Amino acid sequence: MIRFSIFGIPVEIQPFFWVVAALMGGALTADTREAMFAMTLFILAAFISILIHELGHALTGRKLGGGHAKILLTPFGGLAFNQGGRFDRRQRFLMIAAGPGAGFLFLIVILAMLSFAYGVSDVLAFSARVLFGLRLPFHSIGLVSFLQEKPYMHLLLDHLLWINFWWGVVNLLPVKPLDGGQIAELFVRPQRRVFLIGMIAAAFMAVLGLLWLGSTYTAVLFGFLAWRNYRDMQEVRWQ
Ligand SMILES: [Zn+2]
Repeated sequence: MIRFSIFGIPVEIQPFFWVVAALMGGALTADTREAMFAMTLFILAAFISILIHELGHALTGRKLGGGHAKILLTPFGGLAFNQGGRFDRRQRFLMIAAGPGAGFLFLIVILAMLSFAYGVSDVLAFSARVLFGLRLPFHSIGLVSFLQEKPYMHLLLDHLLWINFWWGVVNLLPVKPLDGGQIAELFVRPQRRVFLIGMIAAAFMAVLGLLWLGSTYTAVLFGFLAWRNYRDMQEVRWQ
């Protein structure tokens, strides 16, 4: 178990956090030195991105008077706790939204720095390729040669862009316990409806993952979340 503190907030990392990150980074097929290094860069990108996301929650919670904050990185992602704080609905909304918000802000900072050095249009072309697989033309050689000369930096940037954009978007789906589901819970009544929406959205994502994205991981994760929302909906009914 790794423990450290950042901005006065204690962070605890469970060993299996690294195992799952390694598996997602392709640990099972990493049989060369280059592949191992690429996997390490994925783990690094995932760690940085999840930590920034959780810091968004924890720092906002602390600023709103949430008392002691703590961050825990688990095999299923990150968690931010605020002990001893009582929040109203607006404050809870701000605290939840600050996680994805921090990730998108980090993404914008990276893109702004690259744009400053290599121009906006080439950075947009690069982002469109990483995020959507679009092959837009580059207008100058600057960014292209930077990426070619520094292949590991290239890979790290690919991962940081992809993770902070796509994980950020997916995490805003109205599926509990994702942040989007927790936001939905603040506005949707009765509670059963929150789980119903979560179940439908998660089932849709599972099918999308399987049939369109070809991502078994997405299918399994959202299949599980669909089942969990279904189960929780059943329990709420009898209360
Ligand atoms: Zn979050």
